[in-house]
Amino acid sequence: MKHKIWLLFILLLFITGCTTHKKQVETIIEKKNHIFVTINYPVSGIQKLDNQVKKEIQMRYQTFSEQQKEFVDIASKAELNIDYTIEEIEHRYISITLTIFSNSNLLANPITEIKTYVFDKKKKKFLTILNIIPEAQIKNVKEFITKDLKKNYKDCLLEDELAKTLKQWDQLQFTFDDETLTFYFNPYEIAAGYFNIIKVSIPIEHVGLLFDIEKGKTEPKWKEVEPTTKVIDPNKKSIAITFDDGPSKYTSELLDVLKTYDASGTFFVIGNKVEIYSDTMRRMVKEGNEIGNHSYNHKWLTRVTQQEFDHQINQTQDIIKKVTGFTPRLMRPTYGAVNEKVRHQTNLKVVMWTVDTRDWENKNVKSIIRKTLPNIQDGSIILMHDTKERTVEVLKKLLHELKKENYQFVTVSELEQIQTMKQNNYEK
Ligand code: ZN
Repeated sequence: MKHKIWLLFILLLFITGCTTHKKQVETIIEKKNHIFVTINYPVSGIQKLDNQVKKEIQMRYQTFSEQQKEFVDIASKAELNIDYTIEEIEHRYISITLTIFSNSNLLANPITEIKTYVFDKKKKKFLTILNIIPEAQIKNVKEFITKDLKKNYKDCLLEDELAKTLKQWDQLQFTFDDETLTFYFNPYEIAAGYFNIIKVSIPIEHVGLLFDIEKGKTEPKWKEVEPTTKVIDPNKKSIAITFDDGPSKYTSELLDVLKTYDASGTFFVIGNKVEIYSDTMRRMVKEGNEIGNHSYNHKWLTRVTQQEFDHQINQTQDIIKKVTGFTPRLMRPTYGAVNEKVRHQTNLKVVMWTVDTRDWENKNVKSIIRKTLPNIQDGSIILMHDTKERTVEVLKKLLHELKKENYQFVTVSELEQIQTMKQNNYEK
């Protein structure tokens, strides 16, 4: 009997250990004077892969910080933004891209670079293009790339540089999915005066891979979530608690705390993390919380073009709607940076805050509570951050104290409704 239990245990370990690596996203957001840093990078749960990604992130962060230190007098404004994509093919191959955007007064133009990783989970190794396509196809693929680049970048293409780059075939940056094989070239690599990433996509049927993959991505289908309706008392003292920069690995704990106190919160989320935390996002809506838009990858919004601004907002609206069925009506500008241009660029209502807990900066929970509590009054909008473990503790203590003072905890939209009702009563 004992044997059987052990066997079952080992089997369970084997199943869970082999099939599910829970993907997460790490977020670093910093704001010092006019130097803004946002880094979002994936954690796959596969150590060998995660170590490489983390090493790259640390290197980029360090290089940027050192540059800024050196020119601290001149560089009054600078931004580093690292965004990511992660895709898994056939439950075996993982493709990751890191997109590194940097801008500062030191640069004539902002620069966007890319770093890619393709990893085979089964063989536990990184793959180069040589592991992906048959040798007989190399010449064809090189010709395809050259032709495509000559057509699309004829004014700035450096043909000698391209030939050199293509010679180092096994070092090319690429990703693949069930339809396309995509190659990436960084600024200065093969083109002059072009500061963005250059991409060439080749349909897989043109190439033929070294292994079979099933075509036709199965897009997850999410059923709409039915939100719980909560009773709001317009005569009770009310506050709205808001969380920026999530979702994260702490969000579900925040939801637990909110639920315990029969409270609702408003989560201003970053679009590129919504899908990885889809279960948490759906729970958020189900339990009567509100979702707001906090851009797609936390770019500094007062510094982007109208086109980039629209992309940041619309892509986030789309992914939230797709995953949860909820359409946000609120947005909070990144880094709290807002101007008339930002307000006019969007139909969403821009929501700031009246009380800042400074939970991103202050590490001491007791001190956060002591400094925050006296500033809270009926109608307050409180700012917290969904990226720090201590925020869970802060929320617990805050709700505990405020419950004693008979507050109810509502979403930002509910707070607006209460205020309108009060105003109407007053006018009558
Ligand atoms: Zn933010």
